[in-house]
Amino acid sequence: MDQGIIFDIQKYSIHDGPGIRTTIFLKGCPLNCWWCHNPESQSFNKEVLFWEDRCIGCGDCLKACPTGAIEKESNNKCILCGNCVKACSTGARELVGRRVTVSEVIKDIEKDLIFYDQSGGGATFSGGEAVSQIGFLKSLLKGCREREIHTALDTTGFCDREYLFQIADLVDLFLYDLKIMDDHKHLKYTGVSNNRILQNLRELSLCHDNIVIRIPIIPDVNDHDNDIDAMGKFIKSLLNVREVNILPYHNTGMDKYKRLNIEYLLSGATPPSKDKMEHIKKRLERFGLQVQVGG
Ligand code: SF4
Ligand code: SF4
Repeated sequence: MDQGIIFDIQKYSIHDGPGIRTTIFLKGCPLNCWWCHNPESQSFNKEVLFWEDRCIGCGDCLKACPTGAIEKESNNKCILCGNCVKACSTGARELVGRRVTVSEVIKDIEKDLIFYDQSGGGATFSGGEAVSQIGFLKSLLKGCREREIHTALDTTGFCDREYLFQIADLVDLFLYDLKIMDDHKHLKYTGVSNNRILQNLRELSLCHDNIVIRIPIIPDVNDHDNDIDAMGKFIKSLLNVREVNILPYHNTGMDKYKRLNIEYLLSGATPPSKDKMEHIKKRLERFGLQVQVGG
């Protein structure tokens, strides 16, 4: 696949694998986690974001819209033509998501070769769920491999097993998300069962020797001792896991929900304290795991 849809390319990233990296965010995800800080990553289509605080009420967007979608936001008539974005002089309307070719993305990644070489960095493919665009992702990974650029894949693990194994050899480092062990809770808070995620991780750990598991710590969702112990027990049973990163919940993406006109379901939640993170770290270490806060 020569083309795909992305919503961002972040340069000089230092939290998505070793060294200095370029992170490419592919658009579209089969999950919708309540705490997702990139809600614009979830739809597989482009979307229009509305920044209320930048709007001066001039009405230019209304005049430019061919379908009346702005007048009645609930009528689903937006055809993503982008006319309102062009008409808006204050930047209050933004089109998120763009179609790009593999060679465009590779050229962008190549611009920072010198930083990767000096820092031991490379390219990280994130999302959304990047494996959902398997053809595009595979071509990007191949492009990096041909240029000897280190690759990392940040994945939910919710994907077809064959897809995951089609690309496993092209991925130098897996950043594999583990969210909740209790399947009912997983279904409630992410929209999908965790069966496939756990099974894929089990099989991947049999054949890949560079997997880092990332656990978002979400207050009252997965931060109780029994949740942590269940994760520790499961990870311990896997063959090859290099490290576990625990990532404290933060609500920096909350405003984006407003801009997309989506309800934020975790509005009362507060980030876990340092002590709480330290407690969870120690609890996981009891399973003999290498654990780091952040990552
Ligand atoms: S993208 Fe086009 S159809 Fe959608 S709201 Fe803007 S002008 Fe209207
Ligand atoms: S064109 Fe921009 S500033 Fe004017 S009403 Fe529309 S969103 Fe607001």
